[in-house]
Amino acid sequence: MANPVILTIDDDPVVSRAVARDLRRHYGERYRIVRAGSGPEALEALREIKLRGERVALLLADYRMPDMTGIEFLEAAMDLFPAARRVLLTAYADTDAAIEAINVVDLDHYLLKPWHPPEEKLYPVVDGLLETWAATPDAALSEIRVVGHRWSAPSFKVRDFLARNLIPYRWLLTDDPEGARLLAAAGATEDEVPLVVTADGKTLVGPTPAELASVVGLTVEPTTDFYDLVVVGAGPAGLGSAVYGASEGLRTVLVERRATGGQAGQSSRIENYLGFPDGVSGAQLTDRARRQALKFGAEMLTTREVVGLTEGGGARLLRFGDGTEIAAHTVVLATGVSYRVLDAPGLAELTGRGVFYGSAATEAPSCVDQDVYIVGGANSAGQAAVHFSRYAARVHLLIRGADLTASMSRYLIDQLDRIDRITVHPHTRVAAGAGGDHLERLTLCDTRTGEQRTVDTSWLFIFIGAEPRTDWLDGVLVRDSRGFIVTGPDLVTGGQRPPGWSLTRDPYHLETSLPGVFAAGDVRAESVKRVASAVGEGAMAVSLVHRYLEAQ
Ligand SMILES: Cc1cc2nc3c(=O)[nH]c(=O)nc-3n(C[C@H](O)[C@H](O)[C@H](O)COP(=O)(O)OP(=O)(O)OC[C@H]3O[C@@H](n4cnc5c(N)ncnc54)[C@H](O)[C@@H]3O)c2cc1C
Repeated sequence: MANPVILTIDDDPVVSRAVARDLRRHYGERYRIVRAGSGPEALEALREIKLRGERVALLLADYRMPDMTGIEFLEAAMDLFPAARRVLLTAYADTDAAIEAINVVDLDHYLLKPWHPPEEKLYPVVDGLLETWAATPDAALSEIRVVGHRWSAPSFKVRDFLARNLIPYRWLLTDDPEGARLLAAAGATEDEVPLVVTADGKTLVGPTPAELASVVGLTVEPTTDFYDLVVVGAGPAGLGSAVYGASEGLRTVLVERRATGGQAGQSSRIENYLGFPDGVSGAQLTDRARRQALKFGAEMLTTREVVGLTEGGGARLLRFGDGTEIAAHTVVLATGVSYRVLDAPGLAELTGRGVFYGSAATEAPSCVDQDVYIVGGANSAGQAAVHFSRYAARVHLLIRGADLTASMSRYLIDQLDRIDRITVHPHTRVAAGAGGDHLERLTLCDTRTGEQRTVDTSWLFIFIGAEPRTDWLDGVLVRDSRGFIVTGPDLVTGGQRPPGWSLTRDPYHLETSLPGVFAAGDVRAESVKRVASAVGEGAMAVSLVHRYLEAQ
């Protein structure tokens, strides 16, 4: 197959040649560098590339061009190559326009001209974007193929798992000729899907996450049974702990039951994380953090759920769902929170078949020209509304309250106001969902009058409050009435340390009621529910781990 394309567009021939030259010098062996002098010319080139079945990895467009601005070009190019990474070349004076473009065309980066020296200003940016692209299904050469039904919850689970773990795959329906051929070759029937065929031809019918993880190259088994530090949960807090723990010489393992990134991995664009003025997608941030942790030598286990924590001979023992155990001197619990289930008739049966919790990024392209309903009034629902508005005909945001001011950041409310396709429905709740093999209708209820109406839709995305799933720590650690883990000074009441506390000192700031076990991020009582604070607590927990180990 031909090398993937990097396309650069600039109406100034001198700049255009200079960009192409710098790109060729560094990427010429692995990518084909294509140069265009205007937006229309570049679109024509993209159409030809599409027809030839080639792949486009990166688009670099100048902002100011006479026929078509760079933003207009990138918007049009998204229809042809949605997975290609998008960069705008701007002059300093145009940075405001570039920032605006982030939401319009989901811009990955804007580069200020001139970008010299490229080793510092161009290549690191392009390297990062090409790596992200390489993890998309579009990039895959000898990729994993998933054959399934459009409306099948098990098929959705497999695709969601692969997407969240940034494993490229190709999705084929059972009635697609290639899908049917693969089913026949694997001796599987339509009723048994999803079928997963790996790059080296292994087939898995209806695999469990653990089976899937092991064939796609994710680590599921620890290399030893004793660590300095076990981090439970690979969201921002857990990744923060893993990066700092491993980089500071602790033998560290990060254990995740699902996919790296946690809630943040589901965010289409995190706008308020320090150091990313133009925002960063959850997948990108997660991917970088994961690679950083691995680089420092942390081990990462995926699809391993921790279900028990006990103390044994000075060590902390963690039990997995399959009954096996690992031990460590110290533990950081970074298990975050999960969405609450929306309790309305019909929704449970249709989950994964039109009803989704979180943004289910794999589904967005299927919503083209359709009506999408989103439940929730917090930032996560707002971000999802902006994201889906790029695909859907209309996005309906259902909220119980009168408006969003109490629950959503101002910048997001303003963004929603500016997008015509989004309608906010105040005082509205979902009373029921109905459909055959997938969601077809929702009954909506006015919370003031009780009046009900039915709407036709196949898409409901739910973002309602979240809760910590910490039942497995019942009787082991002090938790508050909602299940959040209590730490540090909050454990000392009226001068009394927590029951069973065995040391002569008070618990350290993020320490739980079991010495040497720390909690960080959203799962911690009174924590700030933000990416930055989760990462910060993850890092801080490691410094307390050191203090604990030194005192042993
Ligand atoms: C859609 C969305 C958009 C958001 N946007 C923003 C934003 O723009 N800015 C911002 O600051 N914040 C945002 N947030 C909030 C932010 O993502 C969270 O505050 C942050 O992810 C919390 O990190 P955490 O590591 O504490 O927990 P989580 O991200 O919840 O990660 C916890 C991880 O632990 C795993 N886990 C749980 N239990 C176990 C177990 N027993 N065994 C093994 N693994 C387990 C989970 O699978 C999960 O991966 C957003 C949240 C969502 C859902």
